[in-house]
Amino acid sequence: MKNNDQNPIKHNQWYPFQNRPLPSGNGQPVENPSVVPLFENNSLPDSARFIIVGAGVHGMSTAWHLAMALEKSGRGKGSEVVLIDKQGPGAGATGLACGCIRNLYMTGPLHAILRESVKVWESDPVNFGFQQVGYVSIGESNQEADYVMMNKSQIESGYPSDLYLGKDAESFLKSIWPDFRTNRCDVVLHEKPSGYAGTHMACWGLDQKCRQWGVKRVYGVTVSGFDQSGGNVKSVQTSAGNIRLDEALVLCTGAWLPTQLDMLSLPRTLDVLYPDGHIETEKDLWTYWRLLEGEVFLPEGVDFRTADGKDSPVLHIELMNTPVEGYDGSELKDHVYWYTRYAAERVGSPGLQGGTIPVKMGPEAVLEPYGHLNDHYQAEPWFADYYCRVTEMFFGRFESILRPHFKERRNGGIGAFTPDNVPIFDWVTKNTFITADSNHGFKMIGVGKLIANLLTTGETPDELKPFALRRFTEGWTYGDRNSNCPWV
Ligand SMILES: Cc1cc2nc3c(=O)[nH]c(=O)nc-3n(C[C@H](O)[C@H](O)[C@H](O)COP(=O)(O)OP(=O)(O)OC[C@H]3O[C@@H](n4cnc5c(N)ncnc54)[C@H](O)[C@@H]3O)c2cc1C
Repeated sequence: MKNNDQNPIKHNQWYPFQNRPLPSGNGQPVENPSVVPLFENNSLPDSARFIIVGAGVHGMSTAWHLAMALEKSGRGKGSEVVLIDKQGPGAGATGLACGCIRNLYMTGPLHAILRESVKVWESDPVNFGFQQVGYVSIGESNQEADYVMMNKSQIESGYPSDLYLGKDAESFLKSIWPDFRTNRCDVVLHEKPSGYAGTHMACWGLDQKCRQWGVKRVYGVTVSGFDQSGGNVKSVQTSAGNIRLDEALVLCTGAWLPTQLDMLSLPRTLDVLYPDGHIETEKDLWTYWRLLEGEVFLPEGVDFRTADGKDSPVLHIELMNTPVEGYDGSELKDHVYWYTRYAAERVGSPGLQGGTIPVKMGPEAVLEPYGHLNDHYQAEPWFADYYCRVTEMFFGRFESILRPHFKERRNGGIGAFTPDNVPIFDWVTKNTFITADSNHGFKMIGVGKLIANLLTTGETPDELKPFALRRFTEGWTYGDRNSNCPWV
């Protein structure tokens, strides 16, 4: 029997956003709405010094930090920043992400981005829903060298983590979860500053900070084109008319970004030069992947707490050589790739949210409706079995009991990935900056602060420099990988 009761164990928790905006009326296209109630929004002004498009994590963080920096430095006013979204906060990937905040990256420069981001998460954990529970990742012995490298780079970047190998790895895991089955868990990395955030809380906190610092938040207005002259965007065309741009435009439109770059006449392909000298010609600048995620209620009497009763660290297991068996004994996949966090906000009651490796699609995607509403991009039926089976494989507490508690509802979403699956944070015209986070950027809340720094001082912060677009033509394209997944 499937358990789809919204609150099966009657946990008395506060769930703040039941009154999200109403869906469009009959006859209107189905659209993914903002995940927070909208109020005190502005209409589109005639002009703005700074225009930011997209109220996801990057747009809201940039607008908030920019408004704050202008006010605090006396160089301007928060009201000189206009934030435009065709729906509102969290209508894209930010509102439906898994919310994991970690630094498990083999691309070293990302460690500094995460260091800066965790500072922002830590600045107001209550209003961002940030739970600093840590992040534990587990690999087999074939990943040992990568883990050693990541641990070293994280520490050098000011992001403390501990590495455990062999028997130490097993003891460490048992000390957190005594019922954890450590077979083939050869290397473990424990990132202490990491954790997770409720995505709706994060959207709420960011939107309110924008409001408090005077950002003009224009929601329900779609950007449809740009007027350019001499390499500068002069005005932005929208469904509510044109708005003149006086200083800089920041495009933070997530999966929709390739569409805006088309409007700026930027190419969709490029010749990519790698550090070993080989060139891949006509490579897609954007490749869409669809994410496979889901949720499961915690069965009655079973928790996801640690041995000392605390909220568990976010857990990531990648065992490339360990197969997963389905409920009928057949092989579901020839490897384990699984991540999970405690997710009461998302599940609506005590439960877990997690996923596995996304599925590569190609350079085109159906963008509307986005996310859970899109029929094309839902996880196939095997996913629920896989997710529950892996959870049961590793935790004695869940042995053979989880599958009936899987929350049968829509999930997932899509993202636009770059040629090396590493973000591009860079100028694309003289006055247009983009945040193309290659779909792993919910955690990267600090990028907006770095961009605000750049816009107010004119100096590119060191943390942003490694993410320039020109790496693809200059031969410092990233790409050393030892994983089945594009997020490392
Ligand atoms: C299912 C899923 C799970 C994920 N899990 C994680 C995770 O655990 N941890 C993590 O770090 N990352 C995760 N990610 C990635 C992360 O969610 C995204 O990288 C990040 O949220 C992107 O933020 P953004 O601000 O760039 O874009 P978005 O959040 O997508 O926001 C873009 C906004 O632009 C608006 N927009 C688009 N076009 C226009 C237009 N023409 N005019 C006006 N507005 C427009 C949209 O309405 C939208 O609100 C996940 C992604 C998905 C899909």
